[in-house]
Amino acid sequence: ALAIPAAVYMLQDKEANAAELERTFIAIKPDGVQRGLIAEIISRFERKGFKLVGIKLVVPNKEFAQKHYDDLKERPFFNGLCDFLSSGPVVAMVWEGEGVIKYGRKLIGATDPQKSEPGTIRGDLAVVVGRNIIHGSDGPETAKDEISLWFEPSELVSYSSNAEKWIYG
Ligand code: ADP
Repeated sequence: ALAIPAAVYMLQDKEANAAELERTFIAIKPDGVQRGLIAEIISRFERKGFKLVGIKLVVPNKEFAQKHYDDLKERPFFNGLCDFLSSGPVVAMVWEGEGVIKYGRKLIGATDPQKSEPGTIRGDLAVVVGRNIIHGSDGPETAKDEISLWFEPSELVSYSSNAEKWIYG
């Protein structure tokens, strides 16, 4: 008789944990898509133990790119950057997991691939700052803003995976 309530509590704990899991916005930019790096990049997040909760292929228009990079509008490279982001298909994704915002940035590496460590996505797969193949939110506020800019709530899927008990213990 005791086993049933215990199982129920475990389930509730898991659901509570799942609800608290952090989310970040990750995009494979047009250069990453054109170079055939979609699977390679997704694989690095997947193998780490992060969970994909939203994904779509989109060609953002320039106005949308300007919104996405709004905080960089005073920078000299802003116009070229927005032209580039809107130049072709982008894989827009939301990834979920403990510490995914900060650790996602670690997986990605430094903005300038010349300064990215080997082992990081940019360190291993890119050479110049203007073609650094991937975007990742840089903090909790930007993650929230970018997820809501790129995705409707209905496009995000909350689910639990059987691997979670092996990833989180
Ligand atoms: P990150 O993408 O690492 O968060 P930033 O937010 O500073 O970096 O810059 C956004 C993007 O703008 C970079 O990923 C890069 O593609 C581009 N960028 C940054 N600095 C330069 C630069 N000096 N020249 C050209 N493009 C740049």
